[in-house]
Amino acid sequence: MRGGVIIRTVDLILKKRNGQVLLPEEIAYLVNGYTAGEIPDYQMASLLMAVFFKGMKESETKALTRSMIDSGRVLDLSSLPGPTADKHSTGGVGDKVSLVVVPLAASCGLYLAKMSGRGLGHTGGTIDKLESIPGFRTDLTVEQLLVQVRAIGCAIIAQTPDLTPADGKIYALRDVTGTVDSLPLIASSVMSKKIASGAQHILIDVKCGWGAFMRDLSQARKLARIMVRLGQEMGRKVGCVISPMEEPLGWAVGNSLEVVEAIHTLKGEGPPDFTRAVRHLTAEMLRLAGSAKTLTEAEKMVEAALASGAALQCFARMVEAQGGDARVAEDPGRLPVARLEGVLEASGDGFLAEVDALQVGHAAMLLGAGRQKKGDAVDPGAGLLLARKVGEEVHRGERLATLYSNQPEGLEKALQFLQGAFSLSPERVAPSPLFLGKVGIDG
Ligand code: URA
Repeated sequence: MRGGVIIRTVDLILKKRNGQVLLPEEIAYLVNGYTAGEIPDYQMASLLMAVFFKGMKESETKALTRSMIDSGRVLDLSSLPGPTADKHSTGGVGDKVSLVVVPLAASCGLYLAKMSGRGLGHTGGTIDKLESIPGFRTDLTVEQLLVQVRAIGCAIIAQTPDLTPADGKIYALRDVTGTVDSLPLIASSVMSKKIASGAQHILIDVKCGWGAFMRDLSQARKLARIMVRLGQEMGRKVGCVISPMEEPLGWAVGNSLEVVEAIHTLKGEGPPDFTRAVRHLTAEMLRLAGSAKTLTEAEKMVEAALASGAALQCFARMVEAQGGDARVAEDPGRLPVARLEGVLEASGDGFLAEVDALQVGHAAMLLGAGRQKKGDAVDPGAGLLLARKVGEEVHRGERLATLYSNQPEGLEKALQFLQGAFSLSPERVAPSPLFLGKVGIDG
């Protein structure tokens, strides 16, 4: 009801469909109604599609973010004895960054109470990855989360119904209605969760490219600028790093395979591209949080935490505190691996010019590592390991990737599908740079 006039959901859908600007109270009505179960999925899906096509003004994105924050609690981390930080990625393939950055940054003195998502579209989710560790619980209450963060510096939990429940519901609906890759929907989804999680310093890894929700750099920059401004307006310090997502990050794609790779990286034995990415992102986070004055100083802190084993220990403590088998930190062979194995071989000679992250993400889904529809279970041991990366020379018959699945049909389909992800060139092709730009961070 507004000024005695009854608001009807269908009128607001029409308003957005016709490209008009929704008012903050209209957005609040839609978010509250959907969260309370009074607006059905089909109407929300229709509204989301209208937003996808017509976009939102920044005032609408801000109102949407605010309403999603107001749908639940906002954590107060001010009593923690050090700087609080958080990180988020807009979603990539092989993006296991949080598994390393969170314990690494905590071992450098930051406090991180991180709320993460499950796989969305072709991209993996940190929560699905962590749940491949036997016993690992991601459903801590907010109180348990705070106790753990105070004790060991970090925790990673799934979205709780207490914090931004609106985003939890809308995010799941977007995943199955083709409305994920919308700038205002991503900005409000990410920023509502980050603001509600309470950290003062927020680093966002905006993925850009064929395998990401933002396909080109100008869109990625626009998204980054909006998120920095939303954060500032709500009293937080936000920095964005834009990174390419043309080929998967690292070698592993799939839940337990990515946890294994994260553990190797914490031991200093990770893939070169992934190792450089996590070091840089952690250093930027330390600088954003004021723990280091310069990037060089921050990089030294990161190097020391990796070399001393402090970051790996912090990971093991987090796994133990969340009920998981902490022995995986020393012996990642304890993690599940699917029983069927397939090998993709090069069909010719040349230099790898492309490993298409989008297609690799789809292949991983066919293997069982991702969801084909809302509510599907994921197979913790399914996925693939890339044997070659862009720029490397390959010869006919050499291994390009090893695939793991528990479903013979899925393995067969994924093998066929994955063929198309690799392209060869007669000339050597330079791999993409690790980062494409920064917004809200100096230097
Ligand atoms: N990550 C999120 O949290 N939300 C999105 O919409 C996309 C990526």
